[in-house]
Amino acid sequence: MATTCRFVLLRTLGAHRVASQLWNVRHMSCSDNVYLSQPTITGSSSLSFRSHTCGQLRRQHVGEKVTLCGWVQYLRQDLFVILRDFSGSTQVLIPQEESARHLKGVLCSLTAESVIKVAGIVRQRPPGQENKGMPTGDIEVLAEDVDVYNTCRKLPFELKDFVKKSESLRLRFRYLDLRSSNLQKNLRLRSQLVMKMREYLCYMHGFVDVETPTLFKRTPGGAKEFVVPSREPARFYSLPQSPQQFKQLLMVAGIDRYFQVARCYRDEGSKPDRQPEFTQLDIEMSFVEQAGITSLVEALLQYSWPADKGGITIPFPTMTYQEAMRDYGVDKPDTRFGMKLMDITDLFLSADISFFKSAVSQPGSSILAMCVPSGAEVFTAKDLEGLKQVSKTHFHQEVSVVLVRADGTLKSPLKKLLADSITDALLKKTRAQPGDLLLIAAGPTDIVRPLLGSLRLRCADLLESHGSSVRDPSSFHFLWVVDFPLFLPKEDDPEQLESAHHPFTAPVPEDTALLYTHPQQVRGQHYDLVLNGCEIGGGSIRIHNASMQLHVLKNILKEDPTLLAHLLEALDSGAPPHGGIALGLDRLVSILVGAFSIRDVIAFPKSFRGRDLMSCAPHLVSEEELKSYHISVNWPADSRGGQDDQCGDLEGRF
Ligand code: ASP
Repeated sequence: MATTCRFVLLRTLGAHRVASQLWNVRHMSCSDNVYLSQPTITGSSSLSFRSHTCGQLRRQHVGEKVTLCGWVQYLRQDLFVILRDFSGSTQVLIPQEESARHLKGVLCSLTAESVIKVAGIVRQRPPGQENKGMPTGDIEVLAEDVDVYNTCRKLPFELKDFVKKSESLRLRFRYLDLRSSNLQKNLRLRSQLVMKMREYLCYMHGFVDVETPTLFKRTPGGAKEFVVPSREPARFYSLPQSPQQFKQLLMVAGIDRYFQVARCYRDEGSKPDRQPEFTQLDIEMSFVEQAGITSLVEALLQYSWPADKGGITIPFPTMTYQEAMRDYGVDKPDTRFGMKLMDITDLFLSADISFFKSAVSQPGSSILAMCVPSGAEVFTAKDLEGLKQVSKTHFHQEVSVVLVRADGTLKSPLKKLLADSITDALLKKTRAQPGDLLLIAAGPTDIVRPLLGSLRLRCADLLESHGSSVRDPSSFHFLWVVDFPLFLPKEDDPEQLESAHHPFTAPVPEDTALLYTHPQQVRGQHYDLVLNGCEIGGGSIRIHNASMQLHVLKNILKEDPTLLAHLLEALDSGAPPHGGIALGLDRLVSILVGAFSIRDVIAFPKSFRGRDLMSCAPHLVSEEELKSYHISVNWPADSRGGQDDQCGDLEGRF
């Protein structure tokens, strides 16, 4: 129906009228539009059946004949239809006269979420009937004509923001959930942000937007990749975890400045800030140093930052990896609040407590403390028990809890072991005040730092759950973390090294010689961008010398260099010095809009288990189809050999 009408419209509108609609640029103020965070939008009604959007009409339109299209939000007392589109809603007045009986009948029989077109006259609402909470609340449209494009069946949930629904139901009916004002707002803000980023890179700095393949080959030394079967026996493509190799090859190819809004794939479990496919703003430049990339990103973010989110100040502060681990116990510190870790090893060793002495008897051990303001006052016994449990279960480590009473004395099993002079020194060093809580951990430094780093975030959550404000959700704290080690010991095999970033990262120039003698001491030219405690970007200056790259792959990482023969050849074919970065768009937007999960800023996200609950992907493929890929499957007992029980079939749905 809609297609027919559109065809008729285009046929009947003269070329002149179409052109004037195109050029009839309408400016709307921010308050016109509840979903838009940018102040002006132009041409929202050009080329369509409507004359205005549902959030657009104001007093100045009174007397105009208008045509609106949208979804029926609800009907009120057989008198009004509230009509909604992406921009807001308008009250449509149902005529009550006998002569409009048919029109009234059609309007009154509409079900919620039916799609209609209404033509009518804009009227000022009678005095006292204005709705101050509605941007269009001064007016209403007296209906003169209606076209019903589609009536809506009873939906699985009500499309009202305050109606709670489970995430699986929302994902199953994603196209309905996307009608919510929140998701509309998030997707529109994302679109505007990306547009500004493209504008900045292309027009201000001469970047070239290049698309790179998604059917590729395994990249060694990184995240687990998805594989895609091919028709050749035992040959599989890999979906790239990022366009890293391609962007470096583009530098060898002389593209000089590349960017792409790139889809990346990693076969890792979903988390609130992670899902199997995600989008990066991927950037690479030739003839550049670290400072060039970091300045570019700062100015790019400043340029594209939504005006209503407050400006951002550049340059961003920088912290070394060592400082981040020492002070915050993580490589992506949330610098919106303090509660830094403090080394009290010397102080406690002088206390001569055997438990602490033996905990730090090995080199590379320390005793660390963290002060939680008001923690002793507000945390419950259950909260404190929870903190101890986390230490034991996740870090196999004890944590001592010390409460500072209102009179300044300590409440803790440690108390009787500490001389008064040590207690005083401890309070002085940690600046703990009456009512504060001290958490103390002793052991290997590379365990107790992450332990207290993790407890720091849990304590912030707990304080907030008790009503204290710790982290300002509306403030944006950017931070560069630099000087990472180039390699870290592998978690499951600490004798073996793995790349802290990826195998293509160059060493800092002064450490290059160490690459061949003490690789574990080499620092990388690697930089991470952190926003409010989340890593939102990472990049590096790359190795552009084939023999150095071969040494890293073969001798340090013990990877098979033949997998990267094409890249090694390219580096040996006149590769310029180059470097780049990738910003995680989903994470960035989710922090910008204050969403709990990146799924709230992705139109069609996957579930926690990596499934598309709407279409039921991944779907079962029959044995017959698999034959052409030379694959045979051990069907799980409950799979009924190729029929998917987890997705109802279409029959009965319509
Ligand atoms: N490809 C890297 C990543 O996805 C980013 C970069 O080094 O530019 O983390």
